[in-house]
Amino acid sequence: MNKAKIQTVDEKGMISMKAEDEKFMREAIKICERGVNAGQAPFGAVIVKNKRIIARGHNEVWADTDITAHGEIVAIRNANRKLKSVKLKGCTIYSTTEPCPMCFSAIHWARMDRIVYGASIKDAKKAGFHELTVSNKEMKRKGGSAVEITGGVLARECRKQLKQWKLLRKCGTY
Ligand SMILES: [Zn+2]
Repeated sequence: MNKAKIQTVDEKGMISMKAEDEKFMREAIKICERGVNAGQAPFGAVIVKNKRIIARGHNEVWADTDITAHGEIVAIRNANRKLKSVKLKGCTIYSTTEPCPMCFSAIHWARMDRIVYGASIKDAKKAGFHELTVSNKEMKRKGGSAVEITGGVLARECRKQLKQWKLLRKCGTY
């Protein structure tokens, strides 16, 4: 009987975690949309701590003429400043596309707990970006990072952002 109860609690926990992941991913998608409409590349991210968004970022590579200004990096910089700390323990980053190796490394350096992403690096490559096709899973395994990874959250909606951006063509790839 106890066993059944525990399973129910676990299931409930998983369902609520999924709902929470989707809720925050929707926020990342909103940031992404804003960036696309402003003529930027289609990548948005939010950083969550204690169930609250503490930082947001959309890709600003073209706006800032800065090849490192990926959505995740912009969000991490904002979170570092907000918490006045280079360490972001207890934080989860929600990114519309799987973080590239550069962003994964920054997430690792910041000691973040978890990555949640929608579309994959391969999807971004298909959209025309000059991606290094090393998955987060591979980065974690090869680098020995403790970060947890959940992929494919609202993946269809996230891929739609890439398509929408292609249709609008307000900026190029890089
Ligand atoms: Zn990146």
